[in-house]
Amino acid sequence: MTTGTLTIDLDALAGNWRALAQIAQVETAAVVKADGYGLGAERVAARLAREGARAFFVAVAEEGTALRRALGPGPTISVFSGHMEGDAERIASADLTPMINSIDQMLRHVEALPGHPFGLQLDTGMNRLGMEPAEWSALRDIALAQNPTLIMSHLACADEFAHPMNDQQRRAFDEMTAGIDVPRSLAATGGTLLGPDFHYDLVRPGVGLYGGLPYVDARPVVTLDIPVVQVRDVLPGETVGYANAWTAQRPSRVATISAGYADGLIRAMGGDARLHHGDIAVPVIGRVSMDLITVDVTDLRETPQSLQLIGLHQSVDTVAGFAGTIGYEILTSLGARYHRVWRD
Ligand SMILES: *Cc1c(COP(=O)(O)O)cnc(C)c1O
Repeated sequence: MTTGTLTIDLDALAGNWRALAQIAQVETAAVVKADGYGLGAERVAARLAREGARAFFVAVAEEGTALRRALGPGPTISVFSGHMEGDAERIASADLTPMINSIDQMLRHVEALPGHPFGLQLDTGMNRLGMEPAEWSALRDIALAQNPTLIMSHLACADEFAHPMNDQQRRAFDEMTAGIDVPRSLAATGGTLLGPDFHYDLVRPGVGLYGGLPYVDARPVVTLDIPVVQVRDVLPGETVGYANAWTAQRPSRVATISAGYADGLIRAMGGDARLHHGDIAVPVIGRVSMDLITVDVTDLRETPQSLQLIGLHQSVDTVAGFAGTIGYEILTSLGARYHRVWRD
């Protein structure tokens, strides 16, 4: 085995879903877009369905088709991007529920698939997806007459618990949905943690299920172990890697491990990044290259067979910090070359 091994702890994932459901005390869906945040949408969703999840969300209809094959009939699969041109066949055959984002999408949907379930997405200030107040006023009565399954909106700043935007969007959502008797949803992971005012009838966590911030109490789900290809001794003054980016200051041992930026370990991670051998941290040295990374293992007593990048010692968000990005990006960049093991 020369590729890294990505171990996905489905028990921890299920535990995170149950814990978020316990916090929310309302129907708890699961967002499995981008192949379940890089961890395998079909395995993730199948496990959560076994755990009791009945509602799943994806970004685009194509993802819904694959997910329906894995889940079979029963659970709802909703599509954030709504009903796009050319989606009708997919929506009908995989029984997807588009979250309608505009009057155009609404017309497209009722013309192509009259009577087929749909939800509505409102913009409460993020200005990314959904109908704005004026558009919503124009469509509201017509849309409600068609029995939407859900009305949803999305928070822009929910990872900052004290941000005034949270209450501002909640009030806008209340105003836009006043007097409407349709299930409502505002919260993703961050909103679920903001408290009951944000829960409405359904919460839709994504990243928290996979062990990422802002869910600080999440159980870690991902472990990434990378095999060592070769270990060498270098003398003071010798350099390592492209552009001679690192120079040995002392007699050193350098391990070359089998993963690089082509595996989602983005090059910007360089400088600050560490891996672990048991409890001991060892620093990345030199440039991250496409398929390989060099690590200073001088301080280890033994020659390592593999080093761990993500695991109990170091979360997805810690690794994200090395590269100046967020856990979401590290997860969804995890490479296709890894050997994936799902622990169930
Ligand atoms: C991605 C997404 C979610 C899930 O967000 P997390 O922060 O990962 O919990 C929920 N709703 C919408 C509209 C999304 O785009």
